[in-house]
Amino acid sequence: MTMPTPDNAPHVVAADMFGRPLRSLRLSVTDRCNLRCKYCMPEEDYVWLPREDVLTHEEMATLTGYFTDLGVDRVRLTGGEPLLRRDLPRLIRLLVQNRRVMDIALTTNGILLADQAEALFDAGLHRVTVSLDTLRPERFRQLTRRDEYARVMEGIASVARAGFTGLKLDTVAIRGFNDDELVALIEFGKRVQAEVRFIEYMDVGGANEWSQQKVLSRAAMLTILTAHYGTIEPMPERGAAPAQRFLLPDGTTFGIIPSTTTPFCATCDRSRVTADGMWYRCLYATAGTDLRKPLRVGVSADEMRAVIRAGWEGRRDRGAEDRKALERDGLRVGGLIGIEKLREDPHLEMHARGG
Ligand code: SAM
Ligand code: SF4
Ligand code: SF4
Repeated sequence: MTMPTPDNAPHVVAADMFGRPLRSLRLSVTDRCNLRCKYCMPEEDYVWLPREDVLTHEEMATLTGYFTDLGVDRVRLTGGEPLLRRDLPRLIRLLVQNRRVMDIALTTNGILLADQAEALFDAGLHRVTVSLDTLRPERFRQLTRRDEYARVMEGIASVARAGFTGLKLDTVAIRGFNDDELVALIEFGKRVQAEVRFIEYMDVGGANEWSQQKVLSRAAMLTILTAHYGTIEPMPERGAAPAQRFLLPDGTTFGIIPSTTTPFCATCDRSRVTADGMWYRCLYATAGTDLRKPLRVGVSADEMRAVIRAGWEGRRDRGAEDRKALERDGLRVGGLIGIEKLREDPHLEMHARGG
């Protein structure tokens, strides 16, 4: 298998039906996880992707090369829990060789981070995001159904020690669960030099115990935070970045990702590849393109690029906006995808396609 070389491969930025460029790629490196967060993996047992279908590091780097030939310049490694993937630093070293990749980030639950932070930094990983929904060990256990809070804290502490800057902490804000911890999380972020980003609870398919009542909206978050901090200023928008950033009076910044109440599909340049090479053009998409099969039968680089290009050029997805429209029209009932369909196709679960 040959790696497409940046110097002789064509470089175009593919655009979809709404003119949105292909820029950001989320690579799910495993569908396994060492937590069972209720909003993501509420079941204990899942149908796992067959091991032989999971792409090797080389296959992932090769696929990424086709995407970067077509405009991708940012890669985020996710999962499942990406640090469960054996020798992740090796994948990072392969991705770093691709000079079109300007930014390689990782989203992790932090449990295995203390063991791996240094190796990840040495391999060339640029940025780390740790998901952290609560600062109360008992709540953590209740939400994730594992007793791993202490290891997550060690993981967070190890990030700066390893040499990383720009740590982010992602919190899913859930009404009636952690709405009383927003201030504490921002204060914790200050202590560990991390920017906190609050994500609105999403129903993205998969079993996720979602209900409208549990969504803590951006407006509600801002009300809570303003009551504590005083005036909060919005900061200028940064292109297709999903987080809206805000400034507190003391200069601290934080973000809100209002995916549920204020979808940002209009500028969305993201797509996702699952650990077994299924490509989804939207977090909400129920159908994707199998890139593993053509890759493994040795389809040429030009043909692979043609498949990806055609897939992106035909993209009309605006999943979160469509969802919102259904809600407005009163047509949205229950979860997005039924449990039977989820059992038939595990790709539809959030932990398979990466958040
Ligand atoms: N296991 C890693 C982690 O938790 O950081 C990476 C994968 S996880 C699927 C990626 C992100 O998706 C996490 O920050 C998680 O909080 C978020 N997520 C999962 N289910 C969600 C939901 N229903 N609504 C909002 N965010 C969700
Ligand atoms: Fe939680 Fe991430 Fe695992 Fe989902 S993939 S259960 S969000 S740790
Ligand atoms: Fe992008 Fe789909 Fe999310 Fe909209 S719902 S922002 S199109 S991934």
